[in-house]
Amino acid sequence: MKVNEIFYSLQGEGHYTGTPAVFVRFAGCNLRCWFCDTDFERGSEMSEDDIVASVLQYPSPYVVITGGEPTLQLTASLCEKLHAKGRFLMMETNGTHELAAGCQVNWITCSPKMITEKDGEGKLATIRLSHIDELKVVFEGSPTQDMSLYEQISANEYRLQPCDTGNAERNKEVLAKTLDFILQHPKWKLSLQTHKILNVR
Ligand code: SF4
Repeated sequence: MKVNEIFYSLQGEGHYTGTPAVFVRFAGCNLRCWFCDTDFERGSEMSEDDIVASVLQYPSPYVVITGGEPTLQLTASLCEKLHAKGRFLMMETNGTHELAAGCQVNWITCSPKMITEKDGEGKLATIRLSHIDELKVVFEGSPTQDMSLYEQISANEYRLQPCDTGNAERNKEVLAKTLDFILQHPKWKLSLQTHKILNVR
């Protein structure tokens, strides 16, 4: 398995915000999003047992399996080995690739992505997951972002996260639009990138 990094921090986003967790970041992704801020290409080969041993160095039972796109590499046997050690598995996925047969994950967060067609039109990448606990959408505050597309995706929880544009003034505008949208559409809850606010990983 090609792993980008394994580190210990707080879950910064979504339902489990503030939870201490071990992050297992798999290398590789099947999409190329223009806004991607993850260095997912680089990685080292690790066996399943190496990964389990790294995870067990840390005291939290929570493990965030992320990437890149973790469904490209996650196996049922790695899930079993981590469960056998009492770990609670949370996954962050773009949802475009099915889980391998037998993979048991306790919590699935899906962050759907827009892809650009050959004709230049934006289209929501097809979701191939049979179950989503939490749908997390990055809100750009743009009238061209059709939120009804996301609402057609079945999930237990819907979270909206203001896009980090890299510009403080623009971020204030996006946050205000995010709050306004949530107040008008209470199916959605706010997700903040608290790790950036706290300046931790
Ligand atoms: S799906 Fe996620 S990891 Fe992959 S390119 Fe898009 S933002 Fe980056």
